[in-house]
Amino acid sequence: METSAESAAEAQGSGGARADSPVAAGEPTVVVTTGTTASPAAEAVDADAVATAAVATASAEAVTADEETVAAAESVPVTRPVAIAPASLSPSRASDFMQCPLLYRFRVIDRLPEKPSEAATRGTLVHAVLERLFDAPAAERTAPRAKSLIPGQWDRLRENRPEVVELFEDDPEGERLARWLGEAEQLVERWFTLEDPTRLEPAERELWVEAELESGLTLRGIIDRVDVAPTGEVRIVDYKTGKAPRPEYAEGALFQMKFYALVVWRLKNVIPRRLQLVYLGSGDVLTYDPVLADLERVERKLLALWEAIRQATETGDWRPRPTKLCGWCDHQAHCPEFGGTPPPYPLPVRAVGSGDLTQGRMGPD
Ligand code: SF4
Repeated sequence: METSAESAAEAQGSGGARADSPVAAGEPTVVVTTGTTASPAAEAVDADAVATAAVATASAEAVTADEETVAAAESVPVTRPVAIAPASLSPSRASDFMQCPLLYRFRVIDRLPEKPSEAATRGTLVHAVLERLFDAPAAERTAPRAKSLIPGQWDRLRENRPEVVELFEDDPEGERLARWLGEAEQLVERWFTLEDPTRLEPAERELWVEAELESGLTLRGIIDRVDVAPTGEVRIVDYKTGKAPRPEYAEGALFQMKFYALVVWRLKNVIPRRLQLVYLGSGDVLTYDPVLADLERVERKLLALWEAIRQATETGDWRPRPTKLCGWCDHQAHCPEFGGTPPPYPLPVRAVGSGDLTQGRMGPD
C-alpha cells in the first residue's frame, strides 16, 4: 500500500502548563495541544509516523501494556481458532496494520497465539486496579487503598487468563514476582501525583464502544475512563503504563484517542472536549482538545486504511514491514523477513485483476 508522510506533528509540547480541565481542575498537564488546521497530506494513512511513534512508545512499554488490555478484550487466542475475515477495526489493530500488514494478518486472520509479557500483563493489572478504585466512596480513593487492591486483582487476572501464570513459572522463590508487583505499586502510586480520584466521578470506566460509520465500517474499542462535566463536556482518558513519547511522536500516541473521539462523536453526536493520556511510567499527562476537522480527518484515514485491509484480505497480499518494532513481534518464526514462512493463507483469495476467488495460498514471500 502506498503511504505518504504526514506533515508536522500536530501536538506541541508545553511543559509544565496546567490543564484547563472541563471536569476536574488542578491536574498537572505536561503537554497541552489544541485543534489544528487540516493538512492535505495528513489525510493519507501514515505508516511511517505511527510506526516511528510506536517505536518510541514500545520502548516505554506503553504499546505492550495497551496491547495486552485490548488483546484480552479481543480474545487474541492462546490456541489457534478458525480464521475469519476482518469485520471491524479497533485502534490497536489499525496500528498493527500501519506498523506491518503481515503482523495484522497474523493477529486478526491467522489469530496466531502470542506469549504474555511482564510489561503488558502489568499494564492490565494496573488498569484493573485504577478501574476498581472508583468502586470506593470518593474520600476513600487513596494510594494505600489502591495498592491494597493489587493482590486481589492479580488473583483475578490469573483466574481469567491462566496463561499469565507462565510468566513466573521459572521463579520458584517468587523474587521476580515480588519485584514485578512492586513495579505495579509504583505505577499506581504515581497516578496520585497526576490525578486526584477523590475529585473525580467517572461517567464510565472500561467502556466498550462500537459505532458503524456511514460506509459500513464498524469501529470499536475500550475507553479506560469517560468523565462528563456538569456542563456536559466530555473528557476521554486513557492510562499508559509506559513513558510519554517525545513531542515529535505525540501524534502517533494521539491516534488512538482521536479514534475514540470519532466513535463517541458518531455514537452521541458530541465532540469530546478533551482527550487525555496519563503516562504512569514517566508521570506525564498529554492532552489534546479535538475539533471537528480532526475527527473528519481520522475518519478519512480509517476508511483508507480499511480499504487497504479489504484489498489485502481479498488478494492475500500481506507485506511484512520490518522496523525496530520487530524486536517485540512474536511471529518472527513465520515472517519471511526473518527466514520464516507464513502459515497457508486460510481465506479465499482473488487473483489480481480477476474476479475469481480461489482457496488460500501461501503468505507473501
Ligand atoms: S517480524 Fe516484523 S516484519 Fe515480520 S511480521 Fe513481525 S512486525 Fe512484521
